[in-house]
Amino acid sequence: MYFETDAIVLKATKTMNNDLFLTLFSRKGGKIEVVANGAKSSKSPLAACSKPFVFGNFMINTHGKTMKLMSCDIYDSHFRITEQLETLANGNYLLELCNLSTAPSVIDYEHYQLIVEAIGILARRNPERSLDYPLLRLAYLIKLAHLTGHQPELEQMCSACHGSTDVKFFSIEHGGLLCEKCAPRNAIKINQTLIQLIRYLQLKDLRIIIKTKIHEGYILHLMRIFEPYVLHHLGIKEIKSKDFLESIS
Ligand SMILES: [Zn+2]
Repeated sequence: MYFETDAIVLKATKTMNNDLFLTLFSRKGGKIEVVANGAKSSKSPLAACSKPFVFGNFMINTHGKTMKLMSCDIYDSHFRITEQLETLANGNYLLELCNLSTAPSVIDYEHYQLIVEAIGILARRNPERSLDYPLLRLAYLIKLAHLTGHQPELEQMCSACHGSTDVKFFSIEHGGLLCEKCAPRNAIKINQTLIQLIRYLQLKDLRIIIKTKIHEGYILHLMRIFEPYVLHHLGIKEIKSKDFLESIS
């Protein structure tokens, strides 16, 4: 049987021989693993599409134990991402997070569309203008929390005692706001401006968000909340590509 789907390559894993294992996030089948026979060799017709960031239409043979990539019609290789360290580090971060936050073979069109859009923004970056990378990562994290059903409770009510409406802290564990009495020592402060910003990033389209000027301090503050938040609620131990990202910034 053959299965044809649009997909983006999240990961290419080397094998002992000339083959590559590809982790695809596909429109019609969610996250799937396929083998690209001989793709390690540059002469292989599958070599060009067997790289992270490639977006295209994949023809897959589903007969047998392992799904096999037969051919791919590349829409966009997004090769520009690999030309610059900063875009590469951010791209790796997004792909890894996408891979870690998705279960195999679960169709999730919204998430699929989101990662394709985010990677597209990185690849089409105007070299003359700087791109707000932390904002792109933050927007992805906030949308990811929302898509996976872990959106924080942002109502003006303490999520621990349910009694106080004077909420000034954010609790990663509770996934919501806390009053001064319930907040542990290391609780992160939050205010109305930041809450509005979270809502904005949750709802607006990435392409609009990335054109919006947002104060660097707000982004950094929310990153300190949402990165551990997503890790905690999705049960992710670590994001390996973070080291590379931190080493260049
Ligand atoms: Zn309370």
